[in-house]
Amino acid sequence: MNMSRPLSAALVVATVALAPRAAHSQQYDLVLANATIVDGSGAARFTGAVAITGGKIARVAREAIPAAQAKRVIDVKGRVVAPGFIDVHAHIEPLLQMPDAESAIRQGITLSLGGPDGGGPWPFGAYLDSAGKSKLGMNVAYLVGHNTIRREVMGTANRAPTAAELDKMKQMVATAMREGAFGLSTGLRYVPGYYSKTPEVIELAKVAAASRGIYTSHLREEGLGLIEGVAEAIEIGRQARIPIVLTHHKAIGQKMWGKSTVTLAMVDSARRAGLDVMIDQYPYTASSTGFSVLVPPWALEGGTAEFKKRVENPELRNAIEAGIKDLLLNDRGGGDLKRVQFASVGWDRSLEGKTLYDWAVQRKLPPTAEGAVPLVIEGVLKGSPSMVFHVIDERDVRRIMAHPQTMIASDGRLDRPGPSVPHPRNYGTFPRVLGEYVRVQKVLTLESAVHKMSGLPAKRLGLSDRGCVRDGCAADLVVFDPATVSDKGTFTQPHQYPVGIDYVLVAGEAVFADGKMTGARPGRVIRRQ
Ligand SMILES: [Zn+2]
Repeated sequence: MNMSRPLSAALVVATVALAPRAAHSQQYDLVLANATIVDGSGAARFTGAVAITGGKIARVAREAIPAAQAKRVIDVKGRVVAPGFIDVHAHIEPLLQMPDAESAIRQGITLSLGGPDGGGPWPFGAYLDSAGKSKLGMNVAYLVGHNTIRREVMGTANRAPTAAELDKMKQMVATAMREGAFGLSTGLRYVPGYYSKTPEVIELAKVAAASRGIYTSHLREEGLGLIEGVAEAIEIGRQARIPIVLTHHKAIGQKMWGKSTVTLAMVDSARRAGLDVMIDQYPYTASSTGFSVLVPPWALEGGTAEFKKRVENPELRNAIEAGIKDLLLNDRGGGDLKRVQFASVGWDRSLEGKTLYDWAVQRKLPPTAEGAVPLVIEGVLKGSPSMVFHVIDERDVRRIMAHPQTMIASDGRLDRPGPSVPHPRNYGTFPRVLGEYVRVQKVLTLESAVHKMSGLPAKRLGLSDRGCVRDGCAADLVVFDPATVSDKGTFTQPHQYPVGIDYVLVAGEAVFADGKMTGARPGRVIRRQ
């Protein structure tokens, strides 16, 4: 199979000379020559060449591969060749509108796992079929979402399911698993997942476990209730016997800063007890979600119309106001209105990029938690805008990132430059880790960072031929300059593509090259086998 290992030079020449030319020369579609190979396993880098044929890696050599053996050779001297990044928490809901997936591809992402936070598509198989018919820039895979199926079966009812309802939800998880889901996601902080109790999730996770799926948990709480949230996720994993991911792991609000020491110790002790617990994380000190996260979930049952009725009821209004004030002080509000920034506001574009502090001042209200309570109610009633919350401590970011079980994942939404001011993770997650946390802060080695972006998530998904650079792996690859790779998007100007990435290959085809998208669409829908 291997043509040039210890053959003598004379024999190689003879072989080439005697063989019919087409059979021997150009046996590879493409060779990346003079590469610094970081293979995704965490092993030390080495120099060599990567040959690609038919969408797969045909050969990884520590010596040069003769140019004559390839239809095309790209000299990547000084550049790293790594497995394409696998994003295990990706908001690819706009995929059918943005099938080129430019904001992901340009970060080096070649496979995104959609359906996080309990929000997977439904009907599951039909959605995957339609995604499969679109010409995709990258590969995609999906989780089935607890919030989605609970809403299908029970609306936004704030109660436990009946036996029949639970049975229906279990059947839906089983169906999605049969149709290729990689597991179950929950968003226990959001409506209607918040209304479920632990045993309901355990029952559904057992169904996913029976098909060798995973369980990805957006915890019930990430602020004051963080420790209990982690404990609940681990308990679900234990009782359902399912591998778990604590997704976008963080500690929200000053009172909880530093508590990642506790949560990581919980992960370590669960793993010592035999549970398969992993973590994913985005490399920023701000989170992003809807404004309604500042409203206690019980007040949101039934949607905006019901919320409006509760707000108009004086007794309930008091309880709602107290709940909002508490969340502004202790949770996503971070105790400072300047930490709460508008990202996308359908009903007032002029607020985008401004903070809740700015809005309070503009409305001549005291810029305090108390003063902002009516603005939170008003904003949610008008249609909860997308927000950025600057409430995470850098030391927790570093500590979580350095944990051996932490994968890098964006939690970003497919995006394209426009007027809103979204979280910069949509554009910069993976390059930011390689630039800021490998090169500048040295929190991770390059090999470890690439492992957390490729080999580790591939292992979590049970994909043995992805997230690797070796013979037989899918030729999903990223080529970048380790000296310059970095994110460019900021919290005020997020719509900026990263720099330092030269090529992104999906199934051996360049989707991004020479600073622009090539128009190639080799992406596929990957279903769990
Ligand atoms: Zn998310």
